[in-house]
Amino acid sequence: MVNKERLIDNFINMVKIASPSLNERKIADYVINELTALGLEVYEDEAGKKIGGNTGNIIGILRSPGKKKVMLSAHMDTVLPCENIKPVIEDGVIKSDGTTILGGDDKAGIANIIEAIKVLKEQKFDHPEIIVVCSVAEELGLLGAKNLDVDKYAPDYSFILDSGGKAGVAIVQTPFTARGEIVVIGKSAHAGISPEKGVNALTVAAHAITKLKLGRIDSETTANIGMVRGGEAINIVMPEVTLKYEARSFSGEKLETLLKETEDVFKAITKKFGAKYIDKVDKGYSGYNLKSDEDIVKVFEKACESTGVSCVTKSTGGGSDSNIYSEKGYKAMTIGVGMSKVHTTEEYIEIEDLYTTTKLVVELLKEIAENDSK
Ligand SMILES: [Zn+2]
Repeated sequence: MVNKERLIDNFINMVKIASPSLNERKIADYVINELTALGLEVYEDEAGKKIGGNTGNIIGILRSPGKKKVMLSAHMDTVLPCENIKPVIEDGVIKSDGTTILGGDDKAGIANIIEAIKVLKEQKFDHPEIIVVCSVAEELGLLGAKNLDVDKYAPDYSFILDSGGKAGVAIVQTPFTARGEIVVIGKSAHAGISPEKGVNALTVAAHAITKLKLGRIDSETTANIGMVRGGEAINIVMPEVTLKYEARSFSGEKLETLLKETEDVFKAITKKFGAKYIDKVDKGYSGYNLKSDEDIVKVFEKACESTGVSCVTKSTGGGSDSNIYSEKGYKAMTIGVGMSKVHTTEEYIEIEDLYTTTKLVVELLKEIAENDSK
């Protein structure tokens, strides 16, 4: 049985420990103690040194030789303001006193994982090999996950406990993204005396834009020019214009093609007008797309059933550590832990969600072990 009081106490202890990105030392030491006490092999990697932080990713392994390997992961860092968090429990909800964030993002995930392992230890049920990863600097752009040597642990399934939504929410789709600037460079000239000596960068850009695919391109793909900046004076032929561009697709291939087509348009049009362009559009982290018949989705669905919650598969526009592990070739899924209004001083979590998510993690471990022995 999940021990609700113990779970809440542990969660409260952790949110009280300030852990801004790159300064996760204190929460990491707390986590190391907890995992060590539970009999896990605990390691800290070199991620901290690589990214200029004071803490590495914390990895705890509960062996189960010959069994499937499951990563359970949550991040230790939080956004600001996170000093002096005073959690308040009111009507079944845990929140801050309104002057700071709560830090349930993502200490709720860590609390769920630790409590689930405590239950496992008490009930002594059959379990897969468990790889607990408490990552650093997620909020700065998934830096901890990027620097984790995931190949060393090679999980069969990875569950990242780091989404809003109730227990049962599974993020099965996140977009591949690209963003940046496209700079069109023309030539300045006096607009009244010798306009023919100039090349108006905006005119060139306008011609290109009429040829670009923008807006909703297909059910999976979008693109946008969100900002335009350029010009020096009303009487100068505009020498340069910067377009801020972004594109997203649930298909990595489609995004690739779109970026290529966009570049081709600028190449052709700028050539035609005797202008130049600089393409500073960069691909962000990769998205992922889990199909409903994949094992990771099926075991999660089964675990939801055993927990008595409905499985809700969703897509999201944001990224999490799952994106990095997927990019490295592992099946990873972000799941809901009930955190609400994250990154604000109104952040809160319902105790019931904290409790149900832990039950779901326990069921997930049981389900994977059972599936494994079939
Ligand atoms: Zn988070």
